[in-house]
Amino acid sequence: MKLLVIGSGGREHALVWKLAQSPRVRQMWCAPGNAGIAEERLAKDQSLVECIAIGAEELPRLLAFAREKQADLTVVGPDNPLALGIVDLFQENRLRIWGPNQKAAQFEASKVFSQNFMEKYGIPTAKGDSFDDLETARAFVWKLNGECAIKADGLAMGKGVLLTETIADAEVALHQLMVERKFGDAGKRIVVQELLRGTEISLHALCDGRRFKLFPASQDHKRSHDDDEGLNTGGMGAYSPAPFLDDRQLAQVGQQLLDAWLRGCEAEGIDFRGILYPGVMLTKDGPKVLEFNARFGDPETQVYLTRLENDLVELLEASVDGALDETKLKWTPMPSVCVVMSGGDYPSASSKGKPITGLDEAAKFPNVKVFHAGTALAGDQIVTNGGRILGVTALANDLRSARDAAYAAVERIHFDGVHFRRDIAAKALS
Ligand code: AMP
Repeated sequence: MKLLVIGSGGREHALVWKLAQSPRVRQMWCAPGNAGIAEERLAKDQSLVECIAIGAEELPRLLAFAREKQADLTVVGPDNPLALGIVDLFQENRLRIWGPNQKAAQFEASKVFSQNFMEKYGIPTAKGDSFDDLETARAFVWKLNGECAIKADGLAMGKGVLLTETIADAEVALHQLMVERKFGDAGKRIVVQELLRGTEISLHALCDGRRFKLFPASQDHKRSHDDDEGLNTGGMGAYSPAPFLDDRQLAQVGQQLLDAWLRGCEAEGIDFRGILYPGVMLTKDGPKVLEFNARFGDPETQVYLTRLENDLVELLEASVDGALDETKLKWTPMPSVCVVMSGGDYPSASSKGKPITGLDEAAKFPNVKVFHAGTALAGDQIVTNGGRILGVTALANDLRSARDAAYAAVERIHFDGVHFRRDIAAKALS
């Protein structure tokens, strides 16, 4: 089989690494990939994965490439190409592609769509409403006493959400989104929700249009600094399983949220084939959906795929073919922990061209995998090239050992301005 993977982050490195283990894959490209992806080899014949210089949003060029190379399956990592309709485009051209089509990707691309959908189909979520007018939005934040999550409607690299505790802060947030247009046109329409309190977990469900298979729970760490201080980021670390739900509770939560979601999809004619990733708050009134994403989480993918025992190619094919009833997900009971190493100014700015040392030493730890996110090659030297640079991921017999192994490997790696959180998985261990 010949595979094309789209994207360039830590999630895509994990996808490529796992897909490359399938004995069925004999050639793989990644567009555009990164320095770590370019070092991956296929299990079948040890040939290298090839990175090609086509951006994840260059749909016509991606289509031309997949056609020319006769890729048997294209796997889409990031949200933007999904929202732009890459799946529809490939399908119109009779090319096989994994991911939700444009209509289904709206769950992530439009917070207004998701909020309305959740209300219509009785999916527990935060009380909220959507607005395109500043004055009515202001009246609503006053009603919530300023304790709000204020969200730009469109995609904003996971950063278009402002959390506020006071009316003054909420007014500033509304101004930033709707008047200053901090996130551009994504702020034309906004959703304002009540601020939910509790423990946040990530759920992932592989869907085939008619049914879903739920993954174990995981937990991301969204804020840039320890103790959940600092700015909201794409994610600074993750681990799985998250111990806040046992298997029975997880299945219950999955049913409570996802059965209603699936009924809604059927009623609306939405054919969702891909990963549905709901962010969920476990509140004192039960689990509530904060948002839906329509792709794998980053860095959740890194911890899931190090634990997954199935052939990922087979799972993605079953998802595309509507054949998930025949598959059973298999996970190692060993927990996995991923610590993200970023540039010091992330998420405000990215790091470029700083040499990264110690990668070889880190790779010598057993059961540790260093996934690259923002890296590039400058001659023979691997250098920084983004906000999040690496995701150091370790698997061990228990969570504490996995966390210790990940941090031991992190300590071997260095680049100028390196930053990472020191409390990944701490909530589960305390
Ligand atoms: P979203 O992109 O909607 O997931 O929001 C990003 C992050 O903001 C989430 O992962 C939560 O940590 C936080 N968040 C979003 N909505 C709410 C809410 N209603 N209450 C509390 N926190 C929220």
